[in-house]
Amino acid sequence: MTDFRIGHGYDVHALASGLRLVLGGIEIEHEKGCVAHSDGDVAIHALCDALLGAAALGDIGLHFPDTSDDFKGIDSRILLQRTAALVRREGYEIGNVDCTIRMQRPKLRPHIDRMREALAAAMGIDVERVSVKATTTERLGFEGREEGISVSAVALIFKP
Ligand code: MG
Repeated sequence: MTDFRIGHGYDVHALASGLRLVLGGIEIEHEKGCVAHSDGDVAIHALCDALLGAAALGDIGLHFPDTSDDFKGIDSRILLQRTAALVRREGYEIGNVDCTIRMQRPKLRPHIDRMREALAAAMGIDVERVSVKATTTERLGFEGREEGISVSAVALIFKP
């Protein structure tokens, strides 16, 4: 019987003016970006935690501590690549992943397919296995006030 595992990840970053917005492995034109030790890709961070969670390998902070200079300003796609390698080292393949990004602005619809492609490439899986969704919070909460972005992600992995 195939050994299936699922994992969940969640991350939040604050938004500040004048920073570049990197989300889902791509850069998006916007007047605000995420405050972070890395490039602030909150979608990739949630996804890494979902993959690590599925394999019961701890969390992103354990593997890539934000106190380490090695990860200062790092392209989060590298973190995702390394996370996928950790999961494979345990004998798992990645089945599929799904992310929900909560932010008020800008509209993410035009960027979704490029994000899926970037995430799929970093994990080394087909783009059909990668889903990215976006929603506003109807102007409610910190996402709605454009103070930050939150992302939840789930991942399914299996031992073939
Ligand atoms: Mg983070």
